[in-house]
Amino acid sequence: AHLARTEAVDEKVHAYLHVDREGALAQAAAVDKRRAAGERLGPLAGVPLALKDIFTTEGVPTTVGSRILEGWIPPYDATVTRRLKDAGVVILGKTNMDEFAMGSSTENSAFGPTGNPWDLTRIPGGSGGGSAASLASFQAPLAIGTDTGGSIRQPAAVTGTVGVKPTYGGVSRYGMVAFSSSLDQGGPCARTVLDAALLHEVIAGHDPLDSTSIDAPVPGVVEAARNGSVAGLRIGVVREFRGEGYQAGVLQRFDESVEVLRELGAEIVEVSCPSFELALAAYYLIAPSECSSNLARFDAMRYGLRVGDDGGRSAEEVTSLTRAAGFGPEVKRRVMLGTYALSSGYYDAYYGSAQKVRTLVSRDFERAFADVHVLISPTTPTTAFPLGERTDDPIAMYRADLCTIPVNLAGNAAMSLPCGLAPEDGLPVGLQIIAPAMADDRLYRVGAAVE
Ligand code: GLN
Repeated sequence: AHLARTEAVDEKVHAYLHVDREGALAQAAAVDKRRAAGERLGPLAGVPLALKDIFTTEGVPTTVGSRILEGWIPPYDATVTRRLKDAGVVILGKTNMDEFAMGSSTENSAFGPTGNPWDLTRIPGGSGGGSAASLASFQAPLAIGTDTGGSIRQPAAVTGTVGVKPTYGGVSRYGMVAFSSSLDQGGPCARTVLDAALLHEVIAGHDPLDSTSIDAPVPGVVEAARNGSVAGLRIGVVREFRGEGYQAGVLQRFDESVEVLRELGAEIVEVSCPSFELALAAYYLIAPSECSSNLARFDAMRYGLRVGDDGGRSAEEVTSLTRAAGFGPEVKRRVMLGTYALSSGYYDAYYGSAQKVRTLVSRDFERAFADVHVLISPTTPTTAFPLGERTDDPIAMYRADLCTIPVNLAGNAAMSLPCGLAPEDGLPVGLQIIAPAMADDRLYRVGAAVE
């Protein structure tokens, strides 16, 4: 049914870069077989899913939204891919994304943008716009995204779906193409909090193949999602996340959610996290710095595209021609920014300062969580903006992640879930819930209570 739905609507939505019809039908048949053989399968066995095209899939193309990996067929599965298959989840295909997960609108995909199913002339968020759009257009009931600065939560917010960035180290990064390794985190996308929890449980947990994977039990997210409640919880409203640049209807729906939480028995307090105002600037030094290093591996020798290899050119020339042709403008901007920020003479002024801000952001969270169980804010300052509106203005584009980025810098966990439609444009608004590291279950407990 989902494959038929994709056939009917994806020409317009463009959620997928690759639909693996044969593979999906084979996986579904394999689940039937395992069941018939008496194997006890988990709750997601046979449930279809859309996978962000940043996770390697053995034998199935993985482009990361980039020309530089066009035609590359990975010889191995990411740990997330492997765990999905082991759980019997049926992978329908690979979803569209901003190139190398750099963006907030999916317009940086080398293969054309994705439309927001609520209004196809608007952005579906990014970088995981394809995953979010697949859910909102009912092409898949579950999806996987990655969140370096907001790429799971911001698309969830603007498409009226649920997205979770787990605690850093909670979900393996093995086989997840690296953008900014100290910030990148894979996570579940769904249409309900419980669905997200069921998926979270499948993909999370220690992986010896990822040196930053946390070796501790996965927080009880499914149990929490089944027992939503906020009675007796102290919830902090982040004071810095409102004011100039925030759409009135977003703040209105957010304030209503605060009242709902109060009525459900939560104690609401205002919390100040002054360093959050520097987080965006710090992120745009740290993420490009790590990206400039990570993307050095695309040298035209190892993967995908190779340009100008006609026998008369040096390896350096071929590398240079390939990177010039294979990377899009945003990726190039970040490689240059990052290389500059890391260069000797500038390192302390830029990268060093950004790392100090990162510590201050973590301290703000620590102070806040000494007093409250979770923090809340709008997920994004505005609803989905029109396609094309911010493509010529990187800073305006970067501001879409104002409320989500501090969480990545500190490495803790956060969820975005729908909290109504903005009255002025009828588009979805996201409520962000933030929890301390390894307290991901709190997101689901609170999320299920207000959903
Ligand atoms: N929009 C942010 C960026 O462009 C975050 C991207 C992400 O989370 N992958 O870097």
